[in-house]
Amino acid sequence: MEGLLIDHVQPGSIAEELEIEPGDRLVAINSQRLRDIIDFTFHADDEELILEILKPSGERWEAEIERDGDEPLGLVFAPPTPSQCGNKCVFCFVHQLPKGLRRPLYVKDEDYRLSFLYGNYVTLSNIGREELDRIVDQRLSPLYISVHATNPTLRERLLGRTDILPILDVMRELAAARIVMHTQVVLCPGLNDGEELARTVRDLAGLHPWVESLAVVPVGLTKHRRGLPALEPVTALHAEAFIRAWQPEAERLARELGAPFLFLADEFYIKAGLSFPPLATYGDLPQIENGVGMIPLFLDEAARVLKKVRKGRPVTATVVTGESPYRYLAEFLEKLSTRMGATLNPVAVRNRLFGESVTVSGLVAGKDIVEELTGRELGDAVFIPDVMLKEGEGVFLDDLSVNNLEKALGTRVVVVEATPAGIVEGLRVVRSF
Ligand code: SF4
Repeated sequence: MEGLLIDHVQPGSIAEELEIEPGDRLVAINSQRLRDIIDFTFHADDEELILEILKPSGERWEAEIERDGDEPLGLVFAPPTPSQCGNKCVFCFVHQLPKGLRRPLYVKDEDYRLSFLYGNYVTLSNIGREELDRIVDQRLSPLYISVHATNPTLRERLLGRTDILPILDVMRELAAARIVMHTQVVLCPGLNDGEELARTVRDLAGLHPWVESLAVVPVGLTKHRRGLPALEPVTALHAEAFIRAWQPEAERLARELGAPFLFLADEFYIKAGLSFPPLATYGDLPQIENGVGMIPLFLDEAARVLKKVRKGRPVTATVVTGESPYRYLAEFLEKLSTRMGATLNPVAVRNRLFGESVTVSGLVAGKDIVEELTGRELGDAVFIPDVMLKEGEGVFLDDLSVNNLEKALGTRVVVVEATPAGIVEGLRVVRSF
């Protein structure tokens, strides 16, 4: 379909005044055809605009606009349909999902536009000359690139295909055009670690500052891998050897490049039981969405929060978490309970849906929480970290809603931000019941 589908029009806006309606399509601005929201942002800057609108009836309108400065048009577009990925990565998480989850979870999107708009990681394996030229022309920067290995043969093996451009050539071209890139390697023991990882790190550091960061994250393996390539998990021993080898290298690179560059995922430190480096070494946390620096940030905030809190009415609550962050959360809750005159009991939920090797909070299913908490004394409320829910929808990844969880547990459920301040706020809510 042509142009961008208008999802809604903001009340009192220019678009409403022009009688533009949900269901209309914005086809062009000042005769420039629009492929997506990026084109819209690119062309909608002028004070004088001619919008070409396609009505659902097939009728075409032209609307002329003169506006003051950057007064918004008031158009909200339907989310773009992402391009699909043609890879068969040996570690793909989507291939390892059990049946019966929310449908969008099975979508394998791979769209450089979403990388620019939302920070989604992409392999860039489905782009050609036209897309590369567009990235450069419209300055789609920064981009988030799953590199995994710079050795082209190994990368093809990891991505499960053979027809892709060598990633280093693509990235050199983007660097020459001053496009900033954040990168990641999913570490698979025996495949892209050791000498291969050293080569990848060397190649990417060679493109600094345009390659601004590189995160190494351990491969995530669920129990649903029948028919998939055999992969070794990252064990506690691997994780310890990895940190001992690569943390000094990350420090050396930070000195050499004048900025933190190589980031090792929190999961390695948790598995190895080693202390985290200071928060300051994570810079402005460019890889936090990738699970890098979350625990150091939590610990730093926890220390500050503990200095500020005061005692109040005694209440008891159960605080749910994944197994990975349990130790850090439990230490914080113990101190917080003493200082606030409350009893906050942490409970780590074992991941029955994906298997016990999946330990992060963000992949805990509602039914697993029910199973873990049934029969326990839960107190005045159960705190659920917001990362366990689909943003804005109040459902877990197995579609169980917060309301259904409350019914199943027979206790109030309070959704809290997964931070120390979020837990303090949750406590305030429970005290107000
Ligand atoms: S790029 Fe690889 S990991 Fe990502 S969705 Fe595609 S197959 Fe899965």
